[in-house]
Amino acid sequence: MNKITIAIDGFSSTGKSTIAKQLAKTLDYIYVDTGAMYRAVTLYAMQNDFISDEKFHSNDLILKLNNINLQFKFNPSLGFSEMYLNGKNVEKEIRTMKVSNFVSVVSAVPEVRNRLVKQQQEIGKSSAVVMDGRDIGTVVFPNAELKIFMNASPKIRAQRRYDELIKRGENISFEKVLKNVNKRDYIDSHRKSSPLKKAKDAIEIDNSNLSLKEQFTQIMLLINKILKLE
Ligand code: C5P
Repeated sequence: MNKITIAIDGFSSTGKSTIAKQLAKTLDYIYVDTGAMYRAVTLYAMQNDFISDEKFHSNDLILKLNNINLQFKFNPSLGFSEMYLNGKNVEKEIRTMKVSNFVSVVSAVPEVRNRLVKQQQEIGKSSAVVMDGRDIGTVVFPNAELKIFMNASPKIRAQRRYDELIKRGENISFEKVLKNVNKRDYIDSHRKSSPLKKAKDAIEIDNSNLSLKEQFTQIMLLINKILKLE
């Protein structure tokens, strides 16, 4: 069977990673969560006091980019890879609201993007991937055989993220989560450097009212069609 590159982009909390993981498992491809990479760089900036509510010393972060080592390591018991920042598993830390509050600002820095995009392209060169993010179909793999653009209403997305955070034990209000979702949507789609937008040849799926099974079936149909043509 031929391998294709699958790019999944879309707004935050549209369920990109859930569907991408399931596709990767079914197809025996590697799943790459590029959001985790931007989150890990943000965590690094927070740990080094480059970013806080009052400031963002982007130049200091740019100077230290060479000191940031990001690795995905497969966790067999979970069935997917976890993010390691300079050798330390940061999977839990990068999913907190604190990181979510700063990640879009850090992701808007062109030097950060250039570096992470290169690493993402390297991963894609050596293996068949399902990669999710904001610029996969437009910048990272503009020639990907399948591009999906996921969407859902902001309220539904905020509810999904809220449920996830509560399950993880965070003490947060729904309003705060909705505010963060809207803020990230705005920054992600208005930044100068590779803003979030649907690639011309991407297929849009609004999953506001779709079950995971329905989305999975819809995307698998598209994949099988492409594989038959290969
Ligand atoms: O996918 P996730 O919500 O974890 O992504 C966190 C943030 O990382 C996004 O809101 C966006 O600012 C940034 N991001 C990006 N480009 C990507 C993936 C994520 O700018 N390819």
